Amino acid sequence: MDAMFVILREDYKEYIEEKSEELRTRVNEKLKSKEVTSPHVNTFDTFKKIVEILRGKLVEHNSLSVPAEYAPTDDGEMFTIHYRNGVTIEELAHELGHHCLHMGEKASHDHGLKPKKEIEANYFAKCFLLPRTIFKETVIAKSDNGQCDIVSLANEFSVSYLFAESRGNDLHIWGESNG
Ligand SMILES: [Zn+2]
Repeated sequence: MDAMFVILREDYKEYIEEKSEELRTRVNEKLKSKEVTSPHVNTFDTFKKIVEILRGKLVEHNSLSVPAEYAPTDDGEMFTIHYRNGVTIEELAHELGHHCLHMGEKASHDHGLKPKKEIEANYFAKCFLLPRTIFKETVIAKSDNGQCDIVSLANEFSVSYLFAESRGNDLHIWGESNG
């Protein structure tokens, strides 16, 4: 068995869903006051505002060996997400997952020592960037004859095809025609 193959328990998945929804609700209210009209559009600028709302910092380091890295302060109250140029919104949201789920623990993308935490942070990123209800509604809107246009779906949320497809797998929403 692949050492990185970790299955999250259903109740823990639901916990992550709820955590991400709580956070989305909280930041969306504040984002409105910052005149971001479509907070579900996952741009770098919106993500930066979200991190600021959470009293964190987003700092670019082009010598970083990984695309992004989460670093909490000692008291766990504040945090920094270091990133290098070219980082994706999915990688950034993964680090936010470490903040929300594993606060106070150092984490980086490539350590591989705690695969379960990496899987959890990945799951959080999908929940956060593709909120369940709005994602399902958008899948319906982008479907024709039971087949969803995943390219268009991914574009709608500014994420990659594989990321959107994986979220649909998690939610068991693809019909047979989507494989
Ligand atoms: Zn990680």
